[in-house]
Amino acid sequence: MTGADSKPLLQVEDLVRDYRLPRKSLFGRPESVRAVNGVSFSVDRGKSFGIVGESGCGKSTLARTVMGLETPVSGRVLLDGQDLFALPALALRRLRQKFQMVFQDPYGSLDPRFKVERVIAEPLEVLLPGLNRRERRERVGETLDSVGLKPVDADRYPHEFSGGQRQRIAIARALITEPELIVADEPVSALDVSVQAQVLNLIMELQERRGLTFLFISHDLSVVRHITDEVAVMYAGEIVETGPTHKVFADPQHSYTRSLIDAVPHPDPRRSRRLRRASQPAGGIG
Ligand code: ADP
Ligand code: MG
Repeated sequence: MTGADSKPLLQVEDLVRDYRLPRKSLFGRPESVRAVNGVSFSVDRGKSFGIVGESGCGKSTLARTVMGLETPVSGRVLLDGQDLFALPALALRRLRQKFQMVFQDPYGSLDPRFKVERVIAEPLEVLLPGLNRRERRERVGETLDSVGLKPVDADRYPHEFSGGQRQRIAIARALITEPELIVADEPVSALDVSVQAQVLNLIMELQERRGLTFLFISHDLSVVRHITDEVAVMYAGEIVETGPTHKVFADPQHSYTRSLIDAVPHPDPRRSRRLRRASQPAGGIG
């Protein structure tokens, strides 16, 4: 099916999303903030696409809208050519199997009342309700294994794990339906730097091994630089620059991108200068 494979897996077209504010304007009209303002981009199959920008620029709003968790004012999100907001409920539910989300907070995103098996298997209840207990258990075990945990971890509770392990559980939960696209919103930002690298390596390994497509969102330039093939720089709800990651970092076209790159702190100013002279931004992972 080369025809289907050559078209982008995800297409976002002129997406706009407003939030109504609780206060009213001087003239009594409800005020709103435009969190996402005319965003367009597309992500090819098997690629990792980054969205980078400062806190408050609209990244999470964009992620939630792309996931169909929020409704846009206008614009379209096409997954595999299917318009998310034009699909009947049943078709949308089926399409849901194809994309999953990983959130920033590995503490808040896992229900502490349930054992890991139930937490991970939950997306299956809706999508593959026909699985029996043994099949379910097997699938959970395999998925735990693929994120570097043990099948017996299924019987423990989320609070028994470290932050990095919990994010592995969240990734397992996202993987269990065998999705094609994973939207990861700041998936390592809550983790210690040493743990960040491990989780990023896992994500890259999964991408390679399973041919997964990633929409990877982060405020951290060095993380995005390390992990993505293409990047879009977001500022105040808009994409100001987009292109292959190495190119955007080596030769940023927009002044905002340049200021972001210059703002990356580096513990060793000599190394930082050296790097900048080589027309590369400073910073490693984290
Ligand atoms: P980021 O993820 O880049 O930090 P967000 O998408 O969280 O940015 O926020 C973008 C803008 O939308 C901010 O001005 C934020 O205050 C506003 N915003 C986000 N979520 C809501 C909400 N639920 N209600 C009202 N305003 C919101
Ligand atoms: Mg956010």
